Amino acid sequence: MQKNEPGLTVVRNPATGEEITTVPALSEPEVDAAIERAAGAFEAWKVVAPGDRARLLRRFAAAVDAHTEELAGLEVANAGHVIGNARWEAGNVRDVLEYYAAAPERHSGRQIPVPGGVDITFYEPLGVVGIIVPWSFPMAIAGWGFAPALAAGNTVVLKPAELTPLSALRIGELALEAGLPEGVLQVLSGKGSVVGQRFVTHPAVRKLCFTGSTEVGRSIMAGCADQVKRVTLELGGKSANIVFADADVELAAARAPYGVFDNAGQDCCARSRILAQRSVYERFLALLEPAVSGVVVGDPTQEATEMGPLISPAHLATVASFVPEDAPVAFRGSCPSGPGNWFAPTVLAPVDPKHRAAQEEIFGPVVVVIPFEDEADAVRLANDTPYGLSGSLWTRDIGRALRVARAVETGTLSVNSHSSVRYWTPFGGAKQSGIGRELGPDALDAFSDVKNVFISSD
Ligand code: NAP
Ligand code: MG
Repeated sequence: MQKNEPGLTVVRNPATGEEITTVPALSEPEVDAAIERAAGAFEAWKVVAPGDRARLLRRFAAAVDAHTEELAGLEVANAGHVIGNARWEAGNVRDVLEYYAAAPERHSGRQIPVPGGVDITFYEPLGVVGIIVPWSFPMAIAGWGFAPALAAGNTVVLKPAELTPLSALRIGELALEAGLPEGVLQVLSGKGSVVGQRFVTHPAVRKLCFTGSTEVGRSIMAGCADQVKRVTLELGGKSANIVFADADVELAAARAPYGVFDNAGQDCCARSRILAQRSVYERFLALLEPAVSGVVVGDPTQEATEMGPLISPAHLATVASFVPEDAPVAFRGSCPSGPGNWFAPTVLAPVDPKHRAAQEEIFGPVVVVIPFEDEADAVRLANDTPYGLSGSLWTRDIGRALRVARAVETGTLSVNSHSSVRYWTPFGGAKQSGIGRELGPDALDAFSDVKNVFISSD
């Protein structure tokens, strides 16, 4: 029996509990070998002409596009995503690749006026970038990391979550089929404590891009400090959906379930605290009830399904712990019984804003509804958690929309919508929801160091 023979991870379907396949759980020496391959590949990749790097990324995008159905099917089977969302996610990987395929030819530095010569800046790639992905959006979040990292001239080692490796592993194969050189993008399945941890400690990995829980993110940031390793952290959230009395309350109530129950609430941007102004609180709840019972929960392979299962039995138990026997359940939607990790959409009210259900990230289909008095009270409550990732506010008053949007401590916020992450615009967290920004026009800056060069004219 060889010592370094890789272990295997069993991959399951969360809607049925059935085994789909097994994937390797890489050992530390195997991870080291992959990082060394990535470091070797970097020497050639960083000097690929910008136009050629752009062309390869466009081919990669085309390969993803040609396999949209297959990738979406993997996400339905492995992550329990509903088919409509899964198709959107595969399309998002393609779009993000196409968007950043335009970047190598445009990532220009500056010429800065100085006496005695010319001063120019260059964006230099960092080297090997480690990307660690959670199980909530396995392929979209992978793409938000690898597309700009590759465009900036880095090579990438990517660790999918242990529970959901299949779409990322397939994308790694598509990268090779599209012509990306060996070692430029490697997908390494295995445990966070082995594969992910080695990204933190291996000196050839120059930057970590981590998406996951605040708890693990904190330990990764501390570990990266040893080598002054660059980090981007996209962490948890407890975002507020603020409904003012002057809003279109019918519309706000009709949309509220989709701001929190999408992906069964396993969304870092879930608006899991609804703050409703007291004068419309009862009316809002009355309108919310039919909206919640209207959410179609069930078989994620069916086109009409809006919400699927939770990711695992362990996660189901965690979510359920927020809704004990004596929980103040205002009303609930429905869900299938039998095999699979099912939990019905659940609305808790009244809930004390200091209660665990109103403070901690549940990451499941549970929302609390809390009344507020006025604008100042709404802002105070919205900011009363350690998180600050996303949020929404509903009002017809433009001045109020602007004042509250500026006052809520959050990385992104939408007015009169629950807009999801858009690749054209920056995304990331305030406070303990993270550090750094992904996506948008400036994403390559997080995968580069600025070099300043002065050329004497004397
Ligand atoms: P997690 O437990 O923090 O795991 C995230 C990733 O880190 C997984 O790939 C995991 O590997 C790996 N990991 C675990 N321990 C590690 C360690 N010691 N060193 C290095 N890597 C390690 O999070 P999760 O349960 O997968 O996902 C849910 C969390 O992600 C929620 O808190 C959610 O808010 C957050 N999230 C944030 C965003 C955002 O953009 N801000 C988006 C989606 C999700 P294993 O799978 O092997 O454990
Ligand atoms: Mg975890």
